[in-house]
This record gives sequence, structure tokens and C-alpha cells, in this order.
Amino acid sequence: MARRNFPPFIGKKYLGNKNKMEVHDLDKETKNCQIDEIIKAKHAVIFKPDNLQEAHRCGYDNCHYCIGGSKR
Ligand SMILES: [Zn+2]
Repeated sequence: MARRNFPPFIGKKYLGNKNKMEVHDLDKETKNCQIDEIIKAKHAVIFKPDNLQEAHRCGYDNCHYCIGGSKR
């Protein structure tokens, strides 16, 4: 599992699940992240800029599996 090569995720490190308001690190993705399911459900969002600070600023919490240190 890794970064995706199709829009709008091309080369992006972080992917947000707007349904659960969680952010995932695609370089450390685990099967528990269910990234493909998130994309299929159209719950996936990207961040501009593509970093954790921006995700947190938008109200996203860390994924327990690939980032850890959840604030909830
Ligand atoms: Zn994750």
C-alpha cells in the first residue's frame, strides 16, 4: 500500500476521511486504514498544503493505525 497515482491523490502523502474526520499517512498505510474503501465511498479528501498541520487545522484527527497519537 502506498501513495496513489490517480487524481486527486497523485503523490499525496496525506488522505483525509471526511466521514470520520480522520487523516491517514499513505506512506505508513495499514490494511486497517481501509483507504480504498474510503476512496470508493467518496469520503476521501486531500489537503493543501499536503501536511499534518493542515489536516489538524481542518479538524482532522490522526488515524490510530498509520499515524497514532489520536487526540480523541
Ligand atoms: Zn490510517
